[in-house]
Amino acid sequence: MTIAFDHSYARDLPGTYLRVAPDPAPAPRLLVLNRPLAAALGLELTDDQARDWFSGAALPPGADPIAQAYAGHQFGGFSPQLGDGRAHLLGEVVTPEGRFDLQLKGSGRTPFSRGGDGKAAVGPMLREYLISEFMAAAGVPTTRSLAVVATGEEVWRETKLPGAVLARVAASHLRVGTFQFFAARSDQARVKALADYAIARHYPELAEVETPYLALLDAVIARQARLIAEWMGLGFIHGVMNTDNMAISGETIDYGPCGFMEGYAPGTVFSSIDHQGRYAYANQPLILGWNLARLAETLVPLLDPVQEKAIEIANDRLTGIAPRYRTEWVAVMRRKLGLLDQDPADAQLADDLMAAMPGADWTLTFRRLADETALRPLFDDFTKMAEWLPRWRARAGEGVAQRLDAANPAVIPRNHKVEEALAAATDGDMAPFHALLAAIQEPFTEAEPYMLPAPTGFGQYVTFCGT
Ligand code: AMP
Ligand code: MG
Repeated sequence: MTIAFDHSYARDLPGTYLRVAPDPAPAPRLLVLNRPLAAALGLELTDDQARDWFSGAALPPGADPIAQAYAGHQFGGFSPQLGDGRAHLLGEVVTPEGRFDLQLKGSGRTPFSRGGDGKAAVGPMLREYLISEFMAAAGVPTTRSLAVVATGEEVWRETKLPGAVLARVAASHLRVGTFQFFAARSDQARVKALADYAIARHYPELAEVETPYLALLDAVIARQARLIAEWMGLGFIHGVMNTDNMAISGETIDYGPCGFMEGYAPGTVFSSIDHQGRYAYANQPLILGWNLARLAETLVPLLDPVQEKAIEIANDRLTGIAPRYRTEWVAVMRRKLGLLDQDPADAQLADDLMAAMPGADWTLTFRRLADETALRPLFDDFTKMAEWLPRWRARAGEGVAQRLDAANPAVIPRNHKVEEALAAATDGDMAPFHALLAAIQEPFTEAEPYMLPAPTGFGQYVTFCGT
């Protein structure tokens, strides 16, 4: 078969990328292929094609690999030049559901690599595969993972590790940082071209409105506020919410040192380099606003010819982010609590649950709300819950147990299970990975060994950026 690639990004946005080919993997071995996703993209691949095309061992016919330029605020500090330092966009696949980027990650150095080796290790690429596929199964907007291929090369991190390439599928790879790259160079023509491209690709209904760039800002705010509310609902901690890791499409992107909170603790951080807790669980909604302010800055010249007026317009929108996020969060909580309609008191009900929950397992608490016997052991101190539960029961009404089961995953990629699977895969045994993948792909179905929190000996979970 061949892949009917299109290349709208390369065609429409000259000067925003560099043409560069992936490194050929010396001894590629297919570790996992997402057949349902391949089918949805209209790809009927043999295993050998997947192995060769998604490792860089061979270029699929019609591919035109490029590395995209972008900048970004990393932990608050601005880097004017990041870009795809270890990724190659092969092209876009157009399906009835839309246009999707097909990108290789870990596929070799590019002119954006700076000091990096352009490579990736098996563990982190399988981690992205697992977590992104869980997010998709849980109904959260996300980039998808099509395949992971071991390259047969060794990469050097803290130690020597087997190398791998991830084939990633995304609505696009436009980031807040893509706009920042050109805004920082005062290249207004390219910021406008990017905005026009983003509208055409992700928000075509805005093309004809009177103020399309303001509408674009509003639309990104809306999708991102919803996305972060969904993350919070799952206990997801992205770990590196830099502006280069925030997608204009509203998808979750770039799974690095991420993880899921077990016991509810708002300050939870997993990333070894996040000493200040900038990207802690409870800080994510604030970072949402901070990052979107950086996007708004790039769009200011497009909002009004009079700069002061443009800034006023942008500020007005930025002030609206916190209340909008709050509305989205309450909506997520209503769903998680099995509430069928809206009541102004729901926000307080959700807040009071948060006040009662510290320490209790985030995932299992929601799953077991209707079963007090199973719920109690999750809490060291049940006093506040004992007061809260009757209020919730009265509000939730009949049939709530089923609604809880449909809204709250039983299985999440628990950190100790992810580590177990990745350690085994690094040693050449893919069986635990496939078993875990099967469980997280059906997250609303109970699967005993994958539901329990980490054993006490697992200790504080730390994830590393050296991915
Ligand atoms: P990330 O932290 O993965 O979002 O990446 C931030 C920036 O570092 C991006 O520009 C990446 O392309 C680049 N980068 C990360 N790892 C590597 C690597 N091993 N080699 C080259 N560039 C890298
Ligand atoms: Mg990134």
